[in-house]
Amino acid sequence: MHRLILFFLILFIVYHLFKRYVRSLFGFRTKPHDKRPTPITDELVKDPVCGTYVPKREAIVYGKMGKLYYFCSKKCLEEFKKSGHQNDRA
Ligand SMILES: [Zn+2]
Repeated sequence: MHRLILFFLILFIVYHLFKRYVRSLFGFRTKPHDKRPTPITDELVKDPVCGTYVPKREAIVYGKMGKLYYFCSKKCLEEFKKSGHQNDRA
């Protein structure tokens, strides 16, 4: 009888170790280790294409002729590149 208890105890431990092992293999995504670095700024920047204001740290940055442009999405960036805003340098 004692042996049976011991057997189940070992089984229990092995099961838990296995579970932990599996979690370490697949569970890395659930771990919130992507601690966001302190936000640089919450400054809003204007998307020159659609006119939307986007938080600077979330905006897509595009540098052109020494000037930085911020976009709400890649689509707007593409739009910007296509339309060629070269002459807005003034
Ligand atoms: Zn936009």
